[in-house]
Amino acid sequence: MKLLLEGHGYRYAVEQIMLALFPGERPEYVDFPPEGEENFARVSIEDLEGASRCRVELRWSGSVSVGEAEAEAPAGDKLTYDRERQKIIRLAFYHAGVELLPERPAWGALTGIRPGTIMTNMLKRGVPEDEATRYMVEEQFVSPKRARLCLDTARASLRVQRELEPRDIALYVGIPFCPTRCAYCSFVSQSVERSMGLIEPFLAALEREIGETAKVVRRLGLRVIALYIGGGTPTTLSAPQLTRLIDTLSREFDLSALREFCVEAGRPDTIAADKLSALRGVTRVSINPQSMSDEVLSAIGRRHTAEDIRAAYALTRGISPAQVNMDLIAGLPADTPEGFERTLREVITMGPENITVHTLALKKGSKITLEDTARPGKAEVGRMLDAASDLLTAAGYRPYYLYRQKYMSGGFENVGWAKNGCESLYNILIMEELCTILAMGGGGSTKLVDPKKGRIERIFDPKYPKEYIEGIERTINSKEKIVKFYEEEVLL
Ligand code: SF4
Repeated sequence: MKLLLEGHGYRYAVEQIMLALFPGERPEYVDFPPEGEENFARVSIEDLEGASRCRVELRWSGSVSVGEAEAEAPAGDKLTYDRERQKIIRLAFYHAGVELLPERPAWGALTGIRPGTIMTNMLKRGVPEDEATRYMVEEQFVSPKRARLCLDTARASLRVQRELEPRDIALYVGIPFCPTRCAYCSFVSQSVERSMGLIEPFLAALEREIGETAKVVRRLGLRVIALYIGGGTPTTLSAPQLTRLIDTLSREFDLSALREFCVEAGRPDTIAADKLSALRGVTRVSINPQSMSDEVLSAIGRRHTAEDIRAAYALTRGISPAQVNMDLIAGLPADTPEGFERTLREVITMGPENITVHTLALKKGSKITLEDTARPGKAEVGRMLDAASDLLTAAGYRPYYLYRQKYMSGGFENVGWAKNGCESLYNILIMEELCTILAMGGGGSTKLVDPKKGRIERIFDPKYPKEYIEGIERTINSKEKIVKFYEEEVLL
């Protein structure tokens, strides 16, 4: 879509709302309106006395519309000023866009990846729940169902926030290996078929990083309350390798205040009795079927069947006392609303404590995008998610965390559902950015959170195993940034 900005330079805000409403479009900036019939938006902001007004003229698929939004002239600091002006851009673009779209977008004029935090922040400021819900529905045009999701997840977040101490942190360990690569994967994970030889040197480097991170944690007096080993598929490691990793973590960190220890055992083809026995102290294991249809599993490049998932689940329940999470994806190739419902019903009958319902999100590098594989459309994905919401609610699950991603089918969302009291602490901490997460390992992303000022700083570990191994000195040196952040920001 050709974009002409007048009176401002808020490219990011314009692109976000354009992508949310017209996911197939890509931005192209112009200095003059195009002559032809190309898709085009003119986004103008005018400062009037006491107010700012945004007007969007939109041309899409041969039809035209206009949207406007106005706000009192934003006062205060530059951040507030920019935020208010970006808000009227979103709203004006939304008003113009809905005139041309066949149906209203589920998330209305909201574009961020954490719509739930808007609700959480309102409740924290003392806004009553019904007023906060009204704001989401009537002023941001969020569907009542999605506003309800926000309310449920905001309540879960506030319950966690009440118990958090300023020095509480979580740890993340990234194991960037998988048995094979899934067709929708956009993660950094490498198939072990290609990189088996890198596992041992990777683990050696990781042990060094764990040791150095633990020194920083001790020096700053931080308290570890949650630990998450993800990836990739950590259970790609052998049982002795898993034992070694867990022993190293337990030796280096004081885990006496740990409230949750999660391990992704994502792919059922990596789950075995000896590995489950090696997961000492683990309180939550993820077994991720994505689908219980063999046809869909084959279409996404998973080299296992639904029967393997049933066997892995039974094995896990027989050996491990950990709670189980199961991830599903709505919108996969070869799936249908009926097939997705069958998957849901079967998984609910299996009885995991958590079920996470993702919406397919495709990045450029995934096989499905590259090959443009046929997959369910927006209306079908919407039906899948509606069925999930109805069936999970009826089975006693409640939504407790929520996030959106770019390029997500139909612009929907990912939602974690849990039985009462089984909500994953780590998922709430990371999604709501409630405390620092110190990451170690491949593709890990440390997020330093100052709970008082809300400031956030990130440090990234190298993504790929080879890069990670070769860059370990630099990674270790970057731990000083954690000390600096805490000494300058949090511990003052
Ligand atoms: S299991 Fe996850 S990380 Fe591994 S290849 Fe599949 S999608 Fe990617």
